[in-house]
Amino acid sequence: MDKNDLKEAGLKITKPRIEILKLLETSEKQHFGAEEIYQELLVGGVKVGIATVYRVLTQFEAAGLIIKHNFEGDQCVYELERGEHHDHMVDLKTGKIVEFHDEIIEQRQIEIAKEHGFKLMEHSLTLYGEFKD
Ligand SMILES: [Zn+2]
Repeated sequence: MDKNDLKEAGLKITKPRIEILKLLETSEKQHFGAEEIYQELLVGGVKVGIATVYRVLTQFEAAGLIIKHNFEGDQCVYELERGEHHDHMVDLKTGKIVEFHDEIIEQRQIEIAKEHGFKLMEHSLTLYGEFKD
């Protein structure tokens, strides 16, 4: 993803947009709170106000560049839309988030929807608990 993605998403290229997109793309982490993004940019010498971070994230979400999660016990978490479906495990103590994908679960959900005459369009599955350390 680069400047062209901003253009394709119908967004003008601005420094905050470029910097936030770059951070989301280059970080090893995949899930970020808005505060975290703000802090990481500061550490990297990029001064963008927290209000701007929120505004850009809202614009990115509307443009389909990122996904916003409202996980329990935490603030909203954002991640890049990488085009592949996955589910999440959330540690309620530490906030750690781990992604997983299980074909059997995916398959069962489709079957269950079918049994109920339900037209499945999307789903999100989040497991809450604690990781053993
Ligand atoms: Zn994820």
